[in-house]
Amino acid sequence: MTVPAPDIGLATTLFARLRELAFDGAGITRDTYGAGEQAAHDLMAATAHALGLEVRTDAALNLYLTLPGRDRALPAVMTGSHLDSVPLGGNYDGAAGVVAGLAVLAGWRAAGQVPQHDVTVMSIRAEESAWFPVSYIGSKAAFGLLPAEALSACRFDTGQPLREHLSRHGGRPDDVARGVASLRAEAIDCFVELHIEQGPVLLGDGHAMGVVTGICGSRRYRRARALGAYAHSGATPRLHRRDAVAATAALIHGAQQDWAALEAAGHELTLTFGQIDTDAHQSDLSKVAGEVAFCVDIRSRSHATLAAMDDRLQAAAAALQASHGVVFDFGVRSGSEPAEMNAALRQALSQAAAEQGSPAPALPSGAGHDSATFANAGVPSAMLFVRNAHGSHNPDEAMATADFAAATTVLGTVLGQRAGLSITSALPAR
Ligand SMILES: [Zn+2]
Repeated sequence: MTVPAPDIGLATTLFARLRELAFDGAGITRDTYGAGEQAAHDLMAATAHALGLEVRTDAALNLYLTLPGRDRALPAVMTGSHLDSVPLGGNYDGAAGVVAGLAVLAGWRAAGQVPQHDVTVMSIRAEESAWFPVSYIGSKAAFGLLPAEALSACRFDTGQPLREHLSRHGGRPDDVARGVASLRAEAIDCFVELHIEQGPVLLGDGHAMGVVTGICGSRRYRRARALGAYAHSGATPRLHRRDAVAATAALIHGAQQDWAALEAAGHELTLTFGQIDTDAHQSDLSKVAGEVAFCVDIRSRSHATLAAMDDRLQAAAAALQASHGVVFDFGVRSGSEPAEMNAALRQALSQAAAEQGSPAPALPSGAGHDSATFANAGVPSAMLFVRNAHGSHNPDEAMATADFAAATTVLGTVLGQRAGLSITSALPAR
Protein backbone atom coordinates (compact mmCIF):
# COMPACT_ATOMS: atom_id res chain seq x y z
CA MET A 1 0.00 0.00 0.00
CA THR A 2 1.34 3.42 -0.92
CA VAL A 3 0.02 6.11 1.34
CA PRO A 4 -0.50 9.48 -0.40
CA ALA A 5 2.07 12.13 0.38
CA PRO A 6 1.12 14.72 3.01
CA ASP A 7 0.30 18.22 1.80
CA ILE A 8 3.45 20.03 2.91
CA GLY A 9 2.38 23.18 1.05
CA LEU A 10 -0.64 23.40 3.34
CA ALA A 11 1.61 22.82 6.36
CA THR A 12 3.95 25.64 5.32
CA THR A 13 1.02 28.00 4.90
CA LEU A 14 -0.39 27.04 8.30
CA PHE A 15 2.96 27.56 10.08
CA ALA A 16 3.27 31.02 8.49
CA ARG A 17 -0.27 31.96 9.47
CA LEU A 18 0.21 30.63 13.02
CA ARG A 19 3.31 32.77 13.35
CA GLU A 20 1.51 35.90 12.13
CA LEU A 21 -1.34 35.31 14.56
CA ALA A 22 0.88 34.80 17.60
CA PHE A 23 4.02 36.89 17.10
CA ASP A 24 4.31 39.15 20.13
CA GLY A 25 7.25 41.24 18.93
CA ALA A 26 9.89 38.88 20.28
CA GLY A 27 8.48 35.35 20.27
CA ILE A 28 5.32 33.32 19.88
CA THR A 29 2.66 33.57 22.58
CA ARG A 30 -0.44 31.41 22.30
CA ASP A 31 -1.85 31.84 25.78
CA THR A 32 -3.80 28.95 27.26
CA TYR A 33 -7.56 29.67 27.18
CA GLY A 34 -6.75 33.13 25.88
CA ALA A 35 -6.79 34.97 22.58
CA GLY A 36 -3.56 33.40 21.35
CA GLU A 37 -4.61 29.77 21.75
CA GLN A 38 -8.11 30.54 20.48
CA ALA A 39 -6.79 32.09 17.25
CA ALA A 40 -4.80 28.93 16.53
CA HIS A 41 -7.87 26.75 17.19
CA ASP A 42 -9.98 28.94 14.90
CA LEU A 43 -7.38 28.57 12.13
CA MET A 44 -7.34 24.78 12.43
CA ALA A 45 -11.15 24.57 12.51
CA ALA A 46 -11.41 26.74 9.38
CA THR A 47 -8.77 24.63 7.62
CA ALA A 48 -10.61 21.43 8.53
CA HIS A 49 -13.90 22.84 7.24
CA ALA A 50 -12.21 23.68 3.94
CA LEU A 51 -10.93 20.09 3.73
CA GLY A 52 -14.42 18.74 4.34
CA LEU A 53 -13.57 17.21 7.74
CA GLU A 54 -16.03 16.93 10.61
CA VAL A 55 -15.34 19.55 13.27
CA ARG A 56 -16.43 19.34 16.90
CA THR A 57 -15.34 20.59 20.30
CA ASP A 58 -15.83 19.23 23.82
CA ALA A 59 -16.56 20.78 27.22
CA ALA A 60 -12.91 21.81 27.63
CA LEU A 61 -12.84 23.19 24.06
CA ASN A 62 -10.48 20.57 22.67
CA LEU A 63 -11.01 20.48 18.92
CA TYR A 64 -11.60 17.22 16.98
CA LEU A 65 -11.09 17.26 13.21
CA THR A 66 -12.28 13.98 11.75
CA LEU A 67 -12.07 12.28 8.38
CA PRO A 68 -14.97 9.81 8.60
CA GLY A 69 -14.07 6.19 7.91
CA ARG A 70 -16.11 3.64 5.95
CA ASP A 71 -17.08 1.89 9.19
CA ARG A 72 -17.79 4.47 11.82
CA ALA A 73 -18.25 1.83 14.52
CA LEU A 74 -14.54 0.99 14.40
CA PRO A 75 -12.26 2.61 17.00
CA ALA A 76 -10.84 5.91 15.78
CA VAL A 77 -7.23 6.40 14.83
CA MET A 78 -6.04 9.62 16.46
CA THR A 79 -3.19 12.05 16.09
CA GLY A 80 -2.60 15.66 17.12
CA SER A 81 -0.96 17.76 19.81
CA HIS A 82 -1.45 21.03 21.65
CA LEU A 83 -1.79 24.53 20.22
CA ASP A 84 -0.88 26.64 23.23
CA SER A 85 2.68 27.88 23.80
CA VAL A 86 4.64 29.18 26.75
CA PRO A 87 4.97 32.99 26.91
CA LEU A 88 7.64 34.06 24.39
CA GLY A 89 7.81 30.54 23.00
CA GLY A 90 8.39 29.12 19.54
CA ASN A 91 6.10 28.36 16.62
CA TYR A 92 6.51 24.58 16.43
CA ASP A 93 6.19 23.18 19.96
CA GLY A 94 2.78 21.52 19.87
CA ALA A 95 1.50 23.14 16.67
CA ALA A 96 3.70 20.87 14.52
CA GLY A 97 1.66 17.85 15.62
CA VAL A 98 -1.68 19.38 14.66
CA VAL A 99 -0.37 20.76 11.36
CA ALA A 100 1.17 17.36 10.54
CA GLY A 101 -2.17 15.61 11.13
CA LEU A 102 -4.01 18.03 8.86
CA ALA A 103 -1.29 17.74 6.19
CA VAL A 104 -1.73 13.95 6.23
CA LEU A 105 -5.52 14.13 5.90
CA ALA A 106 -5.28 16.82 3.20
CA GLY A 107 -3.03 14.46 1.23
CA TRP A 108 -5.54 11.63 1.56
CA ARG A 109 -8.43 13.88 0.54
CA ALA A 110 -6.53 15.11 -2.51
CA ALA A 111 -5.88 11.51 -3.54
CA GLY A 112 -9.51 10.61 -2.94
CA GLN A 113 -8.70 7.96 -0.37
CA VAL A 114 -11.00 6.93 2.45
CA PRO A 115 -9.86 4.98 5.52
CA GLN A 116 -11.82 2.14 7.13
CA HIS A 117 -11.58 3.79 10.56
CA ASP A 118 -12.35 7.39 11.45
CA VAL A 119 -9.12 9.38 11.63
CA THR A 120 -9.18 12.32 14.03
CA VAL A 121 -6.69 15.14 14.41
CA MET A 122 -7.06 16.53 17.94
CA SER A 123 -6.08 20.11 18.76
CA ILE A 124 -5.52 19.76 22.47
CA ARG A 125 -6.02 22.62 24.91
CA ALA A 126 -3.79 23.79 27.70
CA GLU A 127 -0.78 21.49 27.59
CA GLU A 128 1.74 24.09 28.75
CA SER A 129 1.62 24.27 32.54
CA ALA A 130 3.31 27.69 32.39
CA TRP A 131 -0.14 29.34 32.48
CA PHE A 132 -2.09 27.24 34.96
CA PRO A 133 -0.18 25.13 37.51
CA VAL A 134 -1.84 21.91 36.28
CA SER A 135 -0.49 19.27 33.88
CA TYR A 136 -2.36 18.14 30.74
CA ILE A 137 -5.57 20.10 31.37
CA GLY A 138 -7.05 19.53 27.90
CA SER A 139 -6.27 15.86 27.42
CA LYS A 140 -7.25 14.95 31.00
CA ALA A 141 -10.54 16.80 30.62
CA ALA A 142 -11.19 14.94 27.36
CA PHE A 143 -11.08 11.64 29.28
CA GLY A 144 -13.10 13.09 32.18
CA LEU A 145 -10.01 12.85 34.39
CA LEU A 146 -9.33 16.47 35.29
CA PRO A 147 -9.81 16.90 39.07
CA ALA A 148 -12.62 19.39 39.76
CA GLU A 149 -10.33 21.52 41.93
CA ALA A 150 -8.17 22.24 38.86
CA LEU A 151 -10.92 24.60 37.71
CA SER A 152 -10.02 26.87 40.62
CA ALA A 153 -6.36 27.09 39.57
CA CYS A 154 -5.53 30.65 38.53
CA ARG A 155 -3.65 31.73 35.42
CA PHE A 156 -0.36 33.24 36.50
CA ASP A 157 -0.77 36.51 34.59
CA THR A 158 -4.51 37.25 34.82
CA GLY A 159 -5.05 35.85 38.32
CA GLN A 160 -8.36 34.45 37.07
CA PRO A 161 -9.38 30.82 37.57
CA LEU A 162 -9.46 28.21 34.82
CA ARG A 163 -13.26 28.05 35.18
CA GLU A 164 -13.50 31.73 34.21
CA HIS A 165 -11.13 31.44 31.25
CA LEU A 166 -12.91 28.35 29.97
CA SER A 167 -16.37 29.95 30.25
CA ARG A 168 -15.24 33.08 28.47
CA HIS A 169 -14.36 31.08 25.35
CA GLY A 170 -17.59 29.08 25.37
CA GLY A 171 -16.46 26.00 27.30
CA ARG A 172 -18.53 24.11 29.88
CA PRO A 173 -16.61 24.07 33.17
CA ASP A 174 -19.43 22.32 35.06
CA ASP A 175 -19.24 19.36 32.68
CA VAL A 176 -15.46 19.28 33.07
CA ALA A 177 -15.85 19.33 36.86
CA ARG A 178 -18.36 16.44 36.70
CA GLY A 179 -15.91 14.41 34.64
CA VAL A 180 -18.01 14.31 31.47
CA ALA A 181 -15.71 12.51 29.00
CA SER A 182 -15.58 13.11 25.27
CA LEU A 183 -13.05 10.31 24.74
CA ARG A 184 -13.21 6.68 25.82
CA ALA A 185 -10.12 4.50 25.53
CA GLU A 186 -12.15 1.60 24.08
CA ALA A 187 -13.26 3.80 21.18
CA ILE A 188 -9.70 4.76 20.22
CA ASP A 189 -7.44 2.49 18.18
CA CYS A 190 -4.31 4.51 18.87
CA PHE A 191 -2.90 7.99 19.43
CA VAL A 192 0.28 9.00 17.60
CA GLU A 193 1.71 12.44 18.35
CA LEU A 194 4.33 14.18 16.23
CA HIS A 195 6.31 16.78 18.20
CA ILE A 196 9.58 18.66 17.84
CA GLU A 197 12.42 17.34 19.95
CA GLN A 198 13.06 19.80 22.77
CA GLY A 199 16.64 18.71 23.36
CA PRO A 200 19.75 18.35 21.17
CA VAL A 201 19.94 14.54 20.75
CA LEU A 202 18.71 14.16 17.15
CA LEU A 203 20.68 17.16 15.98
CA GLY A 204 23.83 15.69 17.51
CA ASP A 205 23.19 12.24 16.03
CA GLY A 206 22.34 13.54 12.57
CA HIS A 207 18.85 11.99 12.50
CA ALA A 208 15.80 13.79 11.14
CA MET A 209 13.45 12.03 13.54
CA GLY A 210 13.31 9.71 16.53
CA VAL A 211 10.79 7.35 18.14
CA VAL A 212 9.98 8.04 21.78
CA THR A 213 10.35 5.16 24.24
CA GLY A 214 8.53 6.74 27.15
CA ILE A 215 7.52 10.05 28.67
CA CYS A 216 8.86 11.28 31.96
CA GLY A 217 6.45 12.07 34.74
CA SER A 218 7.20 14.61 37.41
CA ARG A 219 6.83 15.47 41.05
CA ARG A 220 6.91 19.18 41.67
CA TYR A 221 6.78 21.58 44.56
CA ARG A 222 6.24 25.07 43.19
CA ARG A 223 5.97 26.87 46.51
CA ALA A 224 8.27 25.14 48.96
CA ARG A 225 9.57 27.15 51.93
CA ALA A 226 12.22 26.82 54.59
CA LEU A 227 11.04 28.58 57.75
CA GLY A 228 13.66 29.59 60.32
CA ALA A 229 14.08 32.82 62.27
CA TYR A 230 15.52 36.19 61.35
CA ALA A 231 18.37 37.19 63.67
CA HIS A 232 21.33 39.58 63.94
CA SER A 233 24.27 38.21 61.95
CA GLY A 234 26.87 39.33 64.47
CA ALA A 235 25.01 38.74 67.70
CA THR A 236 23.63 35.26 67.05
CA PRO A 237 26.03 32.35 67.72
CA ARG A 238 25.93 29.38 65.35
CA LEU A 239 24.11 27.01 67.65
CA HIS A 240 21.39 29.56 68.34
CA ARG A 241 20.58 30.13 64.70
CA ARG A 242 17.63 28.89 62.70
CA ASP A 243 19.18 29.84 59.38
CA ALA A 244 16.85 29.17 56.45
CA VAL A 245 19.56 29.77 53.83
CA ALA A 246 22.01 27.36 55.47
CA ALA A 247 19.32 24.70 55.82
CA THR A 248 18.20 25.10 52.21
CA ALA A 249 21.79 24.89 50.98
CA ALA A 250 22.24 21.69 52.99
CA LEU A 251 19.00 20.28 51.59
CA ILE A 252 20.07 20.98 48.01
CA HIS A 253 23.58 19.63 48.53
CA GLY A 254 22.23 16.44 50.09
CA ALA A 255 19.69 16.05 47.31
CA GLN A 256 22.43 16.23 44.66
CA GLN A 257 24.21 13.39 46.45
CA ASP A 258 20.99 11.38 46.68
CA TRP A 259 20.45 11.95 42.93
CA ALA A 260 23.95 10.68 42.16
CA ALA A 261 23.40 7.65 44.43
CA LEU A 262 20.12 6.79 42.69
CA GLU A 263 21.81 7.10 39.29
CA ALA A 264 24.60 4.82 40.46
CA ALA A 265 21.92 2.31 41.43
CA GLY A 266 20.54 2.36 37.87
CA HIS A 267 17.73 4.93 38.19
CA GLU A 268 17.18 7.57 35.47
CA LEU A 269 15.95 10.92 36.72
CA THR A 270 16.54 14.64 36.81
CA LEU A 271 16.34 16.92 39.86
CA THR A 272 16.16 20.71 39.63
CA PHE A 273 15.87 23.51 42.14
CA GLY A 274 15.08 26.19 39.57
CA GLN A 275 14.28 29.08 41.88
CA ILE A 276 15.54 30.13 45.29
CA ASP A 277 14.57 33.41 46.91
CA THR A 278 15.00 35.18 50.19
CA ASP A 279 12.48 37.90 50.96
CA ALA A 280 13.96 41.09 49.47
CA HIS A 281 12.17 43.25 52.04
CA GLN A 282 13.30 41.35 55.12
CA SER A 283 16.67 39.84 54.27
CA ASP A 284 19.84 41.82 54.61
CA LEU A 285 23.63 41.55 54.72
CA SER A 286 23.60 41.71 58.50
CA LYS A 287 20.74 39.29 59.12
CA VAL A 288 20.39 35.55 59.39
CA ALA A 289 17.62 34.73 56.87
CA GLY A 290 14.38 33.54 58.45
CA GLU A 291 12.76 32.29 55.29
CA VAL A 292 13.67 30.90 51.89
CA ALA A 293 11.20 30.18 49.09
CA PHE A 294 12.22 27.57 46.51
CA CYS A 295 10.84 25.10 44.00
CA VAL A 296 11.66 21.48 43.21
CA ASP A 297 11.19 19.58 39.95
CA ILE A 298 11.86 15.81 39.87
CA ARG A 299 11.39 13.93 36.58
CA SER A 300 11.65 10.29 35.62
CA ARG A 301 10.06 7.66 33.38
CA SER A 302 9.58 5.46 36.47
CA HIS A 303 6.97 5.84 39.21
CA ALA A 304 9.31 4.08 41.64
CA THR A 305 12.19 6.44 40.89
CA LEU A 306 10.02 9.52 41.36
CA ALA A 307 8.90 8.17 44.72
CA ALA A 308 12.43 7.19 45.76
CA MET A 309 13.83 10.66 45.11
CA ASP A 310 10.89 12.37 46.77
CA ASP A 311 11.15 10.10 49.84
CA ARG A 312 14.84 10.94 50.22
CA LEU A 313 14.10 14.64 49.91
CA GLN A 314 11.42 14.48 52.62
CA ALA A 315 13.69 12.47 54.91
CA ALA A 316 16.52 14.96 54.45
CA ALA A 317 14.15 17.83 55.23
CA ALA A 318 13.03 16.12 58.42
CA ALA A 319 16.65 15.59 59.50
CA LEU A 320 17.52 19.24 58.81
CA GLN A 321 14.57 20.32 60.89
CA ALA A 322 16.22 18.62 63.85
CA SER A 323 19.78 19.79 63.13
CA HIS A 324 19.07 23.37 61.95
CA GLY A 325 15.80 24.24 63.69
CA VAL A 326 14.31 25.05 60.31
CA VAL A 327 10.91 23.76 59.24
CA PHE A 328 10.47 22.76 55.59
CA ASP A 329 6.98 23.30 54.21
CA PHE A 330 6.86 21.86 50.68
CA GLY A 331 3.36 23.15 50.00
CA VAL A 332 1.09 21.52 47.43
CA ARG A 333 2.64 18.75 45.36
CA SER A 334 1.83 18.75 41.65
CA GLY A 335 3.16 16.73 38.75
CA SER A 336 2.28 14.13 36.19
CA GLU A 337 2.41 10.39 35.70
CA PRO A 338 5.16 8.84 33.57
CA ALA A 339 4.08 6.78 30.57
CA GLU A 340 5.52 3.98 28.42
CA MET A 341 4.91 4.17 24.68
CA ASN A 342 3.26 1.25 22.86
CA ALA A 343 5.73 -1.30 21.49
CA ALA A 344 3.81 -2.16 18.29
CA LEU A 345 3.39 1.49 17.36
CA ARG A 346 7.05 2.22 18.09
CA GLN A 347 7.99 -0.65 15.82
CA ALA A 348 5.66 0.58 13.06
CA LEU A 349 7.12 4.09 13.22
CA SER A 350 10.71 2.79 13.19
CA GLN A 351 9.99 0.55 10.25
CA ALA A 352 8.23 3.24 8.23
CA ALA A 353 11.13 5.61 8.89
CA ALA A 354 13.74 3.02 7.90
CA GLU A 355 11.86 2.13 4.70
CA GLN A 356 11.84 5.81 3.84
CA GLY A 357 15.63 5.92 4.25
CA SER A 358 15.43 8.06 7.36
CA PRO A 359 16.30 5.82 10.33
CA ALA A 360 14.68 6.96 13.57
CA PRO A 361 16.57 6.05 16.76
CA ALA A 362 14.73 5.41 20.01
CA LEU A 363 14.95 8.14 22.63
CA PRO A 364 13.13 9.02 25.85
CA SER A 365 11.15 12.22 26.35
CA GLY A 366 12.30 14.24 29.33
CA ALA A 367 9.48 16.69 28.77
CA GLY A 368 5.81 15.88 29.38
CA HIS A 369 3.32 15.43 26.54
CA ASP A 370 -0.39 14.73 26.16
CA SER A 371 0.49 11.27 24.83
CA ALA A 372 1.12 10.38 28.48
CA THR A 373 -2.55 11.02 29.28
CA PHE A 374 -3.65 8.80 26.38
CA ALA A 375 -1.22 6.04 27.36
CA ASN A 376 -2.24 6.12 31.03
CA ALA A 377 -5.91 6.06 30.00
CA GLY A 378 -5.21 2.75 28.23
CA VAL A 379 -4.87 3.95 24.63
CA PRO A 380 -1.93 2.48 22.64
CA SER A 381 0.16 5.62 22.18
CA ALA A 382 3.38 6.68 20.51
CA MET A 383 5.38 9.79 19.68
CA LEU A 384 7.58 10.77 16.80
CA PHE A 385 10.13 13.51 17.52
CA VAL A 386 11.36 15.80 14.74
CA ARG A 387 14.88 17.21 14.80
CA ASN A 388 14.90 20.81 16.03
CA ALA A 389 17.71 23.21 16.91
CA HIS A 390 17.87 25.52 19.92
CA GLY A 391 15.46 23.53 22.12
CA SER A 392 11.93 24.79 22.71
CA HIS A 393 10.04 27.18 24.96
CA ASN A 394 11.97 29.98 23.27
CA PRO A 395 11.58 31.97 20.02
CA ASP A 396 14.61 30.31 18.37
CA GLU A 397 13.13 26.84 17.75
CA ALA A 398 14.34 25.76 14.32
CA MET A 399 12.77 22.80 12.52
CA ALA A 400 13.68 22.27 8.86
CA THR A 401 10.73 21.81 6.51
CA ALA A 402 12.44 18.78 4.97
CA ASP A 403 12.64 17.08 8.40
CA PHE A 404 9.01 17.92 9.11
CA ALA A 405 7.99 16.53 5.70
CA ALA A 406 9.92 13.29 6.28
CA ALA A 407 8.42 12.80 9.75
CA THR A 408 4.91 13.69 8.58
CA THR A 409 5.24 11.10 5.80
CA VAL A 410 6.15 8.48 8.43
CA LEU A 411 3.20 9.61 10.56
CA GLY A 412 0.88 9.33 7.55
CA THR A 413 2.15 5.85 6.75
CA VAL A 414 1.46 4.55 10.25
CA LEU A 415 -1.92 6.29 10.51
CA GLY A 416 -2.80 4.81 7.11
CA GLN A 417 -1.81 1.31 8.27
CA ARG A 418 -3.84 1.58 11.46
CA ALA A 419 -6.85 3.15 9.73
CA GLY A 420 -6.99 0.64 6.86
CA LEU A 421 -6.52 3.15 4.09
CA SER A 422 -7.73 1.73 0.79
CA ILE A 423 -6.34 2.60 -2.62
CA THR A 424 -9.69 2.89 -4.36
CA SER A 425 -12.21 5.37 -3.16
CA ALA A 426 -15.77 6.46 -3.58
CA LEU A 427 -14.83 10.05 -2.89
CA PRO A 428 -13.78 12.31 -5.75
CA ALA A 429 -10.31 13.83 -5.52
CA ARG A 430 -10.42 17.40 -4.27
ZN1 LIG B 1 4.76 20.63 23.46
